[in-house]
Amino acid sequence: AQPATTYNRVMLKISGEALMGPQGFGLHPPTVRRIAEEVKSVHDLGVEICMVIGGGNIFRGLSGSAQGMERTTADYMGMLATVMNALAMQSALEDLGVFTRVISAIPMDQVCEPYIRRRAVRHLEKKRVCIFAAGTGNPYFTTDTAATLRANEMSCEAIFMGKNGVDGIYDKDPKEHADAVRYDNVTYDDVLAKRLKVMDASAIALARDNKLPLIVFALDDEGGFRGILAGKGTYTKVQ
Ligand code: UDP
Repeated sequence: AQPATTYNRVMLKISGEALMGPQGFGLHPPTVRRIAEEVKSVHDLGVEICMVIGGGNIFRGLSGSAQGMERTTADYMGMLATVMNALAMQSALEDLGVFTRVISAIPMDQVCEPYIRRRAVRHLEKKRVCIFAAGTGNPYFTTDTAATLRANEMSCEAIFMGKNGVDGIYDKDPKEHADAVRYDNVTYDDVLAKRLKVMDASAIALARDNKLPLIVFALDDEGGFRGILAGKGTYTKVQ
């Protein structure tokens, strides 16, 4: 029989906004639960799963600094926001019976584990979902870079970027242009040259230089994540 998926270990990157549901900010528990169910359905296939969740539903460093806050302080606040999102996802996954670890780039031992690469690899081997929090631990970076960095360190086969309301990368914004065309395949060099909006340039460079494919898909399609891992549905592959 055909295996349900050819992937053994993947990184799922979602933005913080994916967790806010219809309310437009913060955490919406039913939405968090729905995403947790998507993750569980892939975990049930035996795939080892890493996750990075952004913080934009709570706080973004750039918007803080635009309002006069010191940039690095604002970025640390953004990193703390990602820890809250990671804990919410941990709670939802464990409620579904999936074992998880939240692993923070900034140690906060009472709350979650510090990042120790070999320990994280061991968790994955034991089929625990590893949720990497606090980004890279450094200001001036994004959680896209954190996802790419951890995906490389954990030897993930690909990064899956789950989007809301869009099923890949288009030549122009599909919400504004009815004739926008989705790319099936595109190179990292094209993404940089055409300034296609998918990840920031440092994340793209890190993925390109390490030959890590990126798959952009619609997270709001029910069963979408599992389907994409089985090679079904629509998406854009960047490599
Ligand atoms: N951040 C940071 N360093 C990192 C990752 C994140 O300083 O390595 C901060 C940054 O201020 C960012 C915020 O955390 O605005 C939230 O992350 P991001 O904007 O990537 O979240 P998303 O847009 O994916 O929800």
